[in-house]
Amino acid sequence: MIEGVDEIIFSKRKHITLTVQPGGKTVLRAPLRAKEGTLRAFVEAQADWITRAQRRMASLPLPPKPYRFVEGEEILYMGARYPLHLVEKQKSGLTFKEGLGFCLAKGRQADGAKLLENFMRAETRRLCQAYLSHYAALKGFKPGALRINNAKTRWGSCSARNSLNFSLRLAMVPLACLEYVVVHELCHTQYHNHGAAFWGLVEEVLPAYKTPRAWLKKYGGNLPPIS
Ligand SMILES: [Zn+2]
Repeated sequence: MIEGVDEIIFSKRKHITLTVQPGGKTVLRAPLRAKEGTLRAFVEAQADWITRAQRRMASLPLPPKPYRFVEGEEILYMGARYPLHLVEKQKSGLTFKEGLGFCLAKGRQADGAKLLENFMRAETRRLCQAYLSHYAALKGFKPGALRINNAKTRWGSCSARNSLNFSLRLAMVPLACLEYVVVHELCHTQYHNHGAAFWGLVEEVLPAYKTPRAWLKKYGGNLPPIS
């Protein structure tokens, strides 16, 4: 091992490169036949750069890891982290208990991802439906069918016939963000574009929409994968 480097990867390549990953892990990539002395000299010459990059990357959040469904693991739900408990008996496999967290039946850990996906899907449907009903009654929107999908990069969409689709990942973000996405898609039932009139309507319905929108932009891409 070379001091200051966490991992060395030898492969069929011509040049030596150094990368510092979010969290600060430093990886050296080298040609198959590279000599240790050459690598050491390379790293020494880059010492200042490594220190600066490590400092910068240490403060970046780590890329999210898939859940492992082990005791005590924290699960993101409505913008907060709740502990997972493995229990002897849990009829539905997985449930959420207020004040306790998630309870998963021992022996169902292999199905954890599927159970959590189903939970998030049901919760997203319940919460989106509540906001849809509320704002439809308040502002006279007439949304079509509601569908929940597993989109990774799109929170919601509105079809030409005004059926609304929402990502089940909305159950992971703060409620204010889910509310904003529902309002956003509801406003698309009147304006199928992102023009000034559209944003004017969003602001009229939800004056503080910029805060949840900024949260989604900043953190939305860094949620743990479910499936
Ligand atoms: Zn839109």
